[in-house]
Amino acid sequence: MASDDCIFCKIRAGSIPGKKLFEDELVFAIADIHPQAPTHILVIPKEHVASLWELADERLAGRLLFVAAELAREARLAEGWRLIVNTREHGGQEVSHLHLHVLGGRALGRMLSART
Ligand code: AMP
Ligand code: ZN
Repeated sequence: MASDDCIFCKIRAGSIPGKKLFEDELVFAIADIHPQAPTHILVIPKEHVASLWELADERLAGRLLFVAAELAREARLAEGWRLIVNTREHGGQEVSHLHLHVLGGRALGRMLSART
């Protein structure tokens, strides 16, 4: 079920613009609007799941992870890349719809943050 005031649900529905890089029946991916690295992709479940804390569907969890890796391969990030899932307030999550950050294209610092 979509959440009316959720930015990623709106992008999914097409009511606000977003550069869709991938879409299947379970997930979609967009370019992050404020990229922290040359490649910064968000992999997002189509269903409104607030965060990883709320994720109960194991098949969806697998699909999100697989698509993240697939998009990293497509972006030719053979030298390495990072997957980040900020979760809830202390995890630094700003958009309350689960999303996986795929970051790469430069040497990332060792800090465990999407903002390295
Ligand atoms: P987080 O802090 O993990 O919740 O990350 C939210 C991410 O969503 C940030 O990296 C934002 O730059 C990104 N973001 C916010 N609004 C948009 C948008 N309209 N299109 C693409 N990315 C967005
Ligand atoms: Zn949503």
